[in-house]
Formats: sequence, C-alpha cells, structure tokens
Amino acid sequence: MSTSEGKQTRAFQTEVRQLLDLMIHSLYSNKEIFLRELISNASDAADKLRFEAIANDGLYAGDSQIAIRVTFDKEANTLTIADNGIGMTLDEVASNIGTIARSGTREFLQSLQADQAKDANLIGQFGVGFYSAFIVADQVTLITRKAGAAPDEAVRWESAGNGEYTLEQVTKESRGTEVILHLKPEEKEFLDDWRLRSTVRKFSDHVPWPILMLKSAGYTPDEDEGDEEKAEETRKEEKQPEWETVNKASALWTRSKSEITEEEYTEFYKHVGHDFEDPLAHIHARLEGKYEYTVLLYIPKRAPFDLWDRDRKHGVKLYVRRVFIMEGAEDLMPRYMRFVRGVVDSTDLPLNVSREILQKNPAVDAIKKGMVGKVFSLLEEMAKNDAEKYQQFWDTFGVVMKEGVIEDFSHRERVAKLLRFSSTQADSKVQDVSLESYVARMQEKQKAIYYVTGDSFEAARHHPHLEVFRKKGIEVLLLSDRVDEWLVNHLHEFDGKPLQSVAKGGLDLGELEDEADKQELEKYQGEFKELIERVQKGLGEQVKEVRVTNRLTDSPSCLVSGEHDLSASMERILREAGQAAPTTKRTLELNPAHPLVIRLKEEGDEQRFNDLSHILFSQALLGEGGQLEDPADFVRRLNSLLLAAK
Ligand code: ADP
Repeated sequence: MSTSEGKQTRAFQTEVRQLLDLMIHSLYSNKEIFLRELISNASDAADKLRFEAIANDGLYAGDSQIAIRVTFDKEANTLTIADNGIGMTLDEVASNIGTIARSGTREFLQSLQADQAKDANLIGQFGVGFYSAFIVADQVTLITRKAGAAPDEAVRWESAGNGEYTLEQVTKESRGTEVILHLKPEEKEFLDDWRLRSTVRKFSDHVPWPILMLKSAGYTPDEDEGDEEKAEETRKEEKQPEWETVNKASALWTRSKSEITEEEYTEFYKHVGHDFEDPLAHIHARLEGKYEYTVLLYIPKRAPFDLWDRDRKHGVKLYVRRVFIMEGAEDLMPRYMRFVRGVVDSTDLPLNVSREILQKNPAVDAIKKGMVGKVFSLLEEMAKNDAEKYQQFWDTFGVVMKEGVIEDFSHRERVAKLLRFSSTQADSKVQDVSLESYVARMQEKQKAIYYVTGDSFEAARHHPHLEVFRKKGIEVLLLSDRVDEWLVNHLHEFDGKPLQSVAKGGLDLGELEDEADKQELEKYQGEFKELIERVQKGLGEQVKEVRVTNRLTDSPSCLVSGEHDLSASMERILREAGQAAPTTKRTLELNPAHPLVIRLKEEGDEQRFNDLSHILFSQALLGEGGQLEDPADFVRRLNSLLLAAK
C-alpha cells in the first residue's frame, strides 16, 4: 500500500486479478451483460437502503425517490451508472470491490483450463458481478457515500483493471454509488442512447426500481406526441434535465403469470440468482391460506461454485410487501434444497422488526413449508413429464437432494421417490434408476431392494459380492456418492421393501435360492469344514469368522460385514474425517468352486498354506477398495508363492 496526499494504492487480491483477466478475455462475445450486472448491484443497494430505512427513515435525508440513473458523455467517452441506494464506507469498498471473500475461489480459478469457450461457461458458476465492468472499460471509477455518512466521508475507488486500484476519501453531495466507466476505444457503441435503452429493456426490465435516462434530443416517446401542453412545459423547463423511466419498474413476481414472458422470467433469474446462464425451471405461484405470499423460485442449470460452502451468500430472498428484508439460506429453504434461487414476498410479516425476530415468526416456518412443497411439486412434475430435464437436474443436484433423506424425516418418502441411482441393470455411471422402477422390475420372489456401496462407481460395479446377483439376474443399486452411506442408514425401506446391502450379513436370497443351491452349499460346508478351521486358525484375530459361500462365482474370496455393523466404506469415510471409527472384524467367505481355494484345501506345506490364506484375505480387502494394514507383508507372501510356482 502506498499513500500520496490521502490517496492509497492497493493491490488486488490474486484471485481478483485472475478473475479480471479471465473476464476480460472470455466474455467478449457477451459484452453488454456488464450493464445488467451494474444495474443489478444498484438495485440490491436500493433494496438494502429501503430495508434499513424502515428502522431509521432519517437515512433518506429528504431523498426517498430511489432510482438508478444511466448517463453517458460522448466527449469524455464515459458511461455512468448511478444509484441513491445504501452506498459503501471505505472499508466496505476495500473488502467488497478489492477482494473476493468466498472460500473455494482459488480452487475454482484453478479449475479453469485457459480454454476461452469453456471458461466463459464456467465463469457463470461464479457470477460475474462488478468486475464485468472491465469487459468494456479500460478504467473504472466508483464514487460512493454510505447512507447516513457526511458528504466528505465519501470514497473514490479507481482502477484500470491491471492489478492495482486506488482509494481516496472525497466529497460527494448525495448518498449512493456512482460507477463511471471509461470505455475502451472499441466499445464506443455503448455511448448511444438507443443501444443503452434497448440493453436496459432487454436485461433489466424486471428491476423494481426506476431506471432513468435523460430524454434525448432525438427521442420522443409516443405518448407525448401531439401533447401541446406538455411540450410547452418542456420548453419552460429547458434548463432542467428531464429524466424518463426506461424499464417497467415493477416487481416482476407481483405481475400476473400471463403477462410475463419467458425472457422476463429468465432475465429476472439472472439478477436474483447471480447467474450467467438461463435457469433450468421455475415456479411462480401465489399461496393463500392462513398466510398469503407469492413465490417465484428457480432451479439453476448448473451448480454454483460455492454449493458446498456453508457461508455461501445467495439463496432465496425474502420480501415483505415488496420490501426486501433478507437473503436467507437455511431460514427459508432446507439445506438439501440450497440450490433453489428466487424470491418470496409475504403480506403477513411485519416490516419493522429485526431479522432475528423475524426468524422466530411462525409465519416464516409456514412459508418455508409452503415453498418446500412447491419445489417438490416442480421436481415431481419434471420427473414425470420431462425425464431428460429431470436427469439434468439430478446429475447436477442429486447429491444435494440425497441429503433430504437424512435431514428431513417428514419428507423422506417424497425425497425417496425423486432419488435416482446407478444399477447393475445398465451398469452405467448415469444415475437414472428410480426406486419405483427398481421395484417394478423386482423378481417375483425377490423381497429386498439390493444395493452395494463403494468408494467409486468402478469399485461398486466390480464389487465381488455382486457376482451371484449378476448370475441370477437380480438388479443391484450401485452406490458410490459419499452421502450414499448415510442415505442407506436412514432409508430402511421403500414401498414396503427393505433396502438390503449385498455386503452385509449372511446371504439370504430367500425364495430366489432354489433347493439345488442350498444342497450344494451344505455339501461344500461339509467338505470344507477342516479347511475352514485351518484358515481361521492361521488368520487369527484378523477375521471374525471364515465360511464357504455361494455369493461368489469368479472371485476366490470376499469379506462380509455383520448385519448391524458399519460398512467398510463407512468406516473409511469416518476415519478420513478424523473420527475414531471402531475396526469391526469381518467374516471371510471363500468360494469353494474356485481353483485357488481348491488348491488351498490340498496344500500340504504349512508355510505356503499360510501365505495363500493371507493372500486370499488381502485380496478380498483390495477387491472392495479397502486398504491393507501391512502391504509389505502381502508383497512378501505373494512373492514367495510366485517363486514357488515354477
Ligand atoms: P455480488 O453482487 O454477486 O455480491 P459484486 O462483485 O457485483 O458481487 O459486488 C460485490 C459487493 O460490492 C456487493 O455484494 C455489494 O456489497 C457491493 N456493491 C457493489 N455495487 C454496489 C452498489 N452500487 N452499491 C452498494 N454496494 C455495492
């Protein structure tokens, strides 16, 4: 930081520099969005002022006509977006405009591939915001005065977008923020009344505050035609600048559905959702009952980069009779629906209360319930009528929705119907199997919904426990998202059918096993009795039990957890998370038809017998994606067997 006569020069945070660079180079084909972003910020600033002024109307200081003004100066080559909203203090400017205080930013930026087309897409996940000004400007000046601050407590921020910015205390006569863009030589097209008006109408028509532009010489609105009296007035006030409202300036959600076009819904989404892309779907409804409120909710097409960030900023915005109150995450939407964006506007909530009191208001709870119901209906309808779109939703937000099974007992069944999984039916990584369709395909005598969990899709798919299921053509759900372990711990049944892990407990395929299967197993149990005892003795404390199995067809061995034990992958997840997970001993099952097991049975050499039984145990662990406690021991035993096998 350097200072000269009260002016400080500061360096942008590295992340901001990278973002600026990216923005300038990858958004060139969508330049005019900078206007939408700056107007969107101005609109938010106006919302915030109106909220603060409920408790302290002195903040208006005689100027309660809130508006956003767009002007340009051809000679100076500047375009200015000014608001009389909340404004910012010096510290706020430094932290809001000089840094990006969002965790995950660095990771996000690292994920960029310097492929301009792809990056332009990715940046939408991030939200472009204020920095988009640098797409068209080679210098940006922001002058702002916080509502309630003295005129000489204003701040001037300036930057050429090249890594540094200056900050300076200045005097500003009125409250609010002015952003002055000094346009790049090739962007002069924006110094044009018609171009600006049409851009404002296209992108910002829904903004609830008036967006004003000066009545230009060459521009006469239709309604003024032939209005002699008005023309006379205009001549008298010639010296006064005459402003006119360019946008509709009414809250979009208060208008009736039939009057709103798809484009308007889409542009409004980009504003409330801080997104760059079109939404996947929306629902607009007025709810009347004990409480009255209007919702306009959206499902984004793509996950925001901070979907996993507990402090993420954006969610559903709460309005009370069109006054913005708060942007609440968990208060208005459960965590498993945190991807939902939009607004809810209530007529019943009091205006002049603190957010804290508001959060305890029973109406907020009722509204939340109502909104959750609306999101469910939207998703259910999509799942029913537009499978492709629903798949797109599921691919993006499925892992988040799965949390609903765990978190929201009252809606467990409703969430369960929306779940989609991979399964052995298609053996594809795409999660598109619903529990309903699984149940419909169940074999006549099948009693349970079978699943297997693994650390990755491949691990689940190749799980040795699946072998007999594949042989008998019984479908098994392949679960490999981290949340799945918790999901199956909470979802015990669906449609009256229990969910059953193929890797837990004694295998009971119930009626699906025919008499011949049972007899064969009994025969093997007799024949292998001695072997089983020997292996058990050799492995000692490592296993709970050893037995022969009919679970396997291709693999020689596998490990099985007790019915009520933690699964092996759950143990791993807990341990990775630093939690003390008990190591539960598991049962080793041997495939009596496998040549290696037969060889083991016939092995006379004590050392070789021991090596091979340890290897069968280690293999079983590796086969399901587990880790060996003593890998060197495994390698030693394997090598000595390899050497013996001339
Ligand atoms: P976002 O709008 O997604 O938060 P931006 O980069 O556009 O990201 O803006 C960063 C922050 O700067 C805003 O959250 C707001 O606090 C502040 N800000 C931007 N423009 C204005 C404005 N016109 N008036 C007041 N504050 C503003």
